[in-house]
Amino acid sequence: MTHVTAREPATDFGRFFLPGPTEVRPEVLAAQARPMIGHRGTAIKELIAEIEPGLQRIFGTCRPVYVSSSSATGLMEAAIRCCSRERVLSLVNGAFSARFQEIASAHGRTVEALEVPWGRGHTADILDTALGRGSYDAVTVVQSETSTGVLNPVAELAEAVHRRDDVLLLVDSVTGVGGMAVEADRCQLDFVLTGSQKALALPPGLAFGVAQEAALRRAETIPNRGTYFDILAFEAGLAKHQTPNTPAVSLLYALRMQLARIEAETPAMRYRRHADMAARVWQWVEEMDDRGIGLSMLAPEGYRSPTVSCICLPEGRTGPEVTARLKDRGFTIAPGYGQLKDTTIRIGHMGDHTVAELDELLHHLEGVLAP
Ligand SMILES: *Cc1c(COP(=O)(O)O)cnc(C)c1O
Repeated sequence: MTHVTAREPATDFGRFFLPGPTEVRPEVLAAQARPMIGHRGTAIKELIAEIEPGLQRIFGTCRPVYVSSSSATGLMEAAIRCCSRERVLSLVNGAFSARFQEIASAHGRTVEALEVPWGRGHTADILDTALGRGSYDAVTVVQSETSTGVLNPVAELAEAVHRRDDVLLLVDSVTGVGGMAVEADRCQLDFVLTGSQKALALPPGLAFGVAQEAALRRAETIPNRGTYFDILAFEAGLAKHQTPNTPAVSLLYALRMQLARIEAETPAMRYRRHADMAARVWQWVEEMDDRGIGLSMLAPEGYRSPTVSCICLPEGRTGPEVTARLKDRGFTIAPGYGQLKDTTIRIGHMGDHTVAELDELLHHLEGVLAP
């Protein structure tokens, strides 16, 4: 017989450090177990109205925040379909930014990639030069490259983009929103999106996005926006506190509880906790290296994500081997991604984890790397 327990002892939390999906608190998981409601009735409107302010706060916006019942890639597709016309410049420095580029190509856009090596970040200067060379109508960027742990300076990149006429900035902030201050309005991020299963520490299945006025104006001029990911449909739905199609109602219950938890902690303290966890990893890597273990952070100082760390392994150790040994000790992290699979490991220190839980993980990682 299979037992499904809604509540596990809280002490089990703090062992699952994948950079997505991230660990979900038992009470947030349990919040999903409520009766269904219709998606055109008053109950859903009240629910959507209730979650709106919390979502606006974490996106740094006064605008409507779209709730898409899809994974984050769905809204990457929305960004391309609705906000790019013909010529896209994709800033590529890892697997997810390459995916953004591929999505643009798959939609028939003419795409040029501005590539820097995996592990490096993009600079406003180089972007400015590239923008001067071609006539692009949209730029794609990933704020926190989950494959490399690199944080791109999105505010500066946005400035460079907006010095040009009629160019939109499309931002994947999947491992950003909820783990660091994102300022969609102040930085004029024309479209910015995230997913539920990363720094928001919800189950997978929802994506969230915000479009600035310029993005909506652009969408109105684009004929083949499709149906499911049409941002104008999201916009029209939200004006009535509705979603265009049946939303993942159970996930909305979990979202409501998680937003209340974020509010109780305060977003500022949540971002501080993430910054502290990242700093703890950097310090530990340095300590290990001083002891001759030969570890290093892939991303240079100043370009490191507060939510995910990619650590270069010493000669003779591989990502799959180290993660397997850690698993034997009851802890889950990820090997490197794609071309970095063997040479690195990745720790997702985001969502609801604490420095104390991270310390426990690092203690065991130390046991694996320096027995
Ligand atoms: C996880 C991730 C995605 C893809 O999200 P899905 O929810 O799997 O579609 C895209 N971009 C980044 C930066 C990610 O970390």
